[in-house]
Amino acid sequence: MLSRALLVIALLFVAPVVPANAAPGCSGYVALTYDDGPNPAFVRPLLAALKAVRARATFFDVGARAEEQPGLVRETVRAGHWLGNHSWSHPALTTLPPEEVTAELAKTQDVLREITGRTPALFRPPYGDTNAAVRDEARRQGLAEVLWTVDTVDWSGVPTDAIVRSALGAKAGGIILMHDGYQTTVDAVPLVVKGLKKKGLCPGRIDHRGRVVAP
Ligand SMILES: [Zn+2]
Repeated sequence: MLSRALLVIALLFVAPVVPANAAPGCSGYVALTYDDGPNPAFVRPLLAALKAVRARATFFDVGARAEEQPGLVRETVRAGHWLGNHSWSHPALTTLPPEEVTAELAKTQDVLREITGRTPALFRPPYGDTNAAVRDEARRQGLAEVLWTVDTVDWSGVPTDAIVRSALGAKAGGIILMHDGYQTTVDAVPLVVKGLKKKGLCPGRIDHRGRVVAP
């Protein structure tokens, strides 16, 4: 009786933390995120690459670009991906007066809702530039602020293998920052997803509190 109790206690300490609803082969989840789209040259190749490895991702779209390319936003959502608010014009939000911060977020909410019929619950400040006032305004508009745990610096001209290497540094619960705008990022998709899988990690969804969960 005592030994069984000890065994149970021992198991509690050794057992890895596996989400209750984890899919087979997934010991944890990592969010793939793509900022700055929709980019007419790259979003379709990106969607095709994600589909080929059955991965779902979060796209933090820029409101003004969404307004120009509503069809691409709809395609992204129809393919099963999630949409977040990345401001209207991609400014450094902490440099703006409060009413402009409000407008940057609200206009983007409006256009994404109009295009998709869904209201985004996630917000990523351009450049990760944020403060308490920006976060409070986001919260007031029903948005959780989402930053990242791994920056692939894919925008800087690094080759695909460097993007992959950075991305594979993600741990369970991690959020990988990439961009809708580079062929190297598109080419990295299968390598990133396969590499994560080898570590028991699967692409996940970011919930309304900003945590990475099963899709
Ligand atoms: Zn951005």
